[in-house]
Amino acid sequence: MRSVELNTGEKVPALGIGTWRMGERRQERASEVDALKLALDLGLNLIDTAEMYGDGGAEEVVAEATAGRRDKLYLVSKVYPHNASRKGTIRACERSLKRLRTDRLDLYLLHWRGSYRLAETVEAFETLKGAGKIRGWGVSNFDVADMRELAGVAGGKNCVSNQVLYHLGARGIEWRLLEDCRNSHIMVMAYSPLGQGPLLKQPALKAIADKHACDPGAVALAWVLRQPGVVAIPKASKLAHVRANFKALKLELDSEDCKRLDAAFPPPKRATPLAMA
Ligand code: NAP
Repeated sequence: MRSVELNTGEKVPALGIGTWRMGERRQERASEVDALKLALDLGLNLIDTAEMYGDGGAEEVVAEATAGRRDKLYLVSKVYPHNASRKGTIRACERSLKRLRTDRLDLYLLHWRGSYRLAETVEAFETLKGAGKIRGWGVSNFDVADMRELAGVAGGKNCVSNQVLYHLGARGIEWRLLEDCRNSHIMVMAYSPLGQGPLLKQPALKAIADKHACDPGAVALAWVLRQPGVVAIPKASKLAHVRANFKALKLELDSEDCKRLDAAFPPPKRATPLAMA
């Protein structure tokens, strides 16, 4: 299994699975649980969730799918910005742990910037870490200036990851953020790496998928994963999608593929504000 080394020295799978929109509808719960179980069977042991998803419902789906398999799992959840005060972060984490039926998170992220001072949230993260309730912490949707500000806060350099939008159709982080994170040894976790689906209908992707006898989803993911130090967390609740995406790990895009993709989805020519889903 391909992995990415964190600034803690720990290795995590380069391909994980996301859970946004899971836990929202009772009738889809069984297929969501099955998809997560299949991902774990395949060795995709990184699951990304958040208190926001399904109002905690996604965390409950994750708990069901991972029962008895906690030790191999790298479990990521997120705190809402409006809960990210010193005390609120700790309470939100405890609620997430309860829903996830576990005693610890591997990574706890601030979902996006809100009105609480970063210093306050970081202090709460460090308290949770000291108590063994989280093993590491990070941020999400932080642009270049946000990351610089974070680095200046007490304890801010302990940030493990910045989770940001990154796919063929949204390449803005290639201008500077990606390099800044790399230089600071902060793992970039690419969310919506399939562009939430419609991207996969683009003819350039289809042509390369046909050439490699795989699914356009695998091409889109292999393209994200070609970047060293980047983890991708596609969401899939259909078993066929999980299997198709898994093939990205074995897919090597050649220089001709990359040229065709650059022509269809050009890299940024100037700095643009970080896009969000
Ligand atoms: P995504 O992973 O880019 O796309 C998910 C969509 O693609 C689902 O509709 C899924 O369908 C479909 N799909 C999956 N594999 C496919 C394949 N091989 N062929 C065709 N369709 C396929 O979008 P996302 O859910 O927005 O992003 C992934 C994860 O990132 C989220 O679930 C969440 O954990 C995280 N995220 C974080 C933030 C943040 O602010 N930090 C924002 C957005 C997302 P099925 O489900 O029907 O299989």
